[in-house]
Amino acid sequence: PNADSIKVAVRVRPFNQREKVLQCKCIVSMLGSSTQVTDPKNLNSRKSFHFDHCYWSHDEYTENEQGVHISDGHHSRYADQAKVFNDLGRNILENVWRGFNATLFAYGQTGSGKSYTMTGYGQNKGLVSMICEELFRGIREKQSPERQFHVYFSMFEIYNEQVQDLLSKVRKPGGLRVREGRKGFYVECLKAVSCDSYEKLEALLREGIRNRSTASTNMNATSSRSHMVINLRFKQVLTKEHCLKQSEIDLVDLAGSEKQRSSGSTSDRFNEARAINLSLTTLGNVISALSDKAVGKKIHHISYRNSTLTRLLRTALGGNSKTVMIATVSPAHINYEETLSALRYAERYIVIMNRAVINVSATE
Ligand code: ADP
Ligand code: MG
Repeated sequence: PNADSIKVAVRVRPFNQREKVLQCKCIVSMLGSSTQVTDPKNLNSRKSFHFDHCYWSHDEYTENEQGVHISDGHHSRYADQAKVFNDLGRNILENVWRGFNATLFAYGQTGSGKSYTMTGYGQNKGLVSMICEELFRGIREKQSPERQFHVYFSMFEIYNEQVQDLLSKVRKPGGLRVREGRKGFYVECLKAVSCDSYEKLEALLREGIRNRSTASTNMNATSSRSHMVINLRFKQVLTKEHCLKQSEIDLVDLAGSEKQRSSGSTSDRFNEARAINLSLTTLGNVISALSDKAVGKKIHHISYRNSTLTRLLRTALGGNSKTVMIATVSPAHINYEETLSALRYAERYIVIMNRAVINVSATE
């Protein structure tokens, strides 16, 4: 009765400057819960995909005085940040309040809108901020001497299979150790900062994002080559009900899904490409195995252990969690191949059944 499928969404962004200069054609269209992609070399060839949500964030938007992208009037179809939050973020929060774990991840080509959707830019706050703001609103409303809530915030990146703490300015050579414990894999010595307000959490989030870009600049890389994971631990101590609920929320901005060209001049670039391919391929394999399992096929082995990302997302993907995946795509014809491959990848998630259980334990 607890079985629930992963929710999968797709979002298409506006043309960027380069695509405008190149006078790109928009090859993505959406109708209800279906997304079509037209082959720019053969306009009669269209591929159709079905998802739980299709977000048209391509055009028909304006910027208000604060610089927030909003829907342009009554007939506009533009899906803004609030719309995405209302559909996906609120659902995650409901589950979290009930004591479930939750995972949200963004998949897509570099520049397709993963970070815009997850963490946002400037006034256009993303899902992470909106989820946290709403979580603290709920806490303020509900807390009493008999109902205590605790939030712990961690943030790390996986680059070249190595984990670095984004709440720390010091990068550990070789990365932090990933260990296996009773409840799954975890990162040793990762900072988990207790937060008692949204403002404190938002400041940590911005610090983590800054550390991510400084670190990649120092290595002559770009943050598009690392996965960023935000982890929230939420504890509810409900004295009257004699229970303790604990949930983990993982919010993941994945490395760019574009084909990694490893013709690379340097061995660093080569290793990077190999690591990204390894983790995204392993993620795909794990997902395939899980979807086969969901439709009753016999599965011998699920290769979680093959990459750091899948090791750390193991609980999120295979077990006790509600999972949302959002694939972001460019509207432009020049990105046809990448868009198609991102949608195909996302399509595989549709059938996975995730058996989530509520993490309640009696106190005393
Ligand atoms: P990624 O993280 O996938 O590399 P970004 O999130 O940085 O891509 O997005 C690239 C650019 O497109 C940014 O300038 C961002 O502001 C813009 N953008 C992305 N998605 C949207 C959207 N839904 N609405 C408006 N602008 C967007
Ligand atoms: Mg990004």
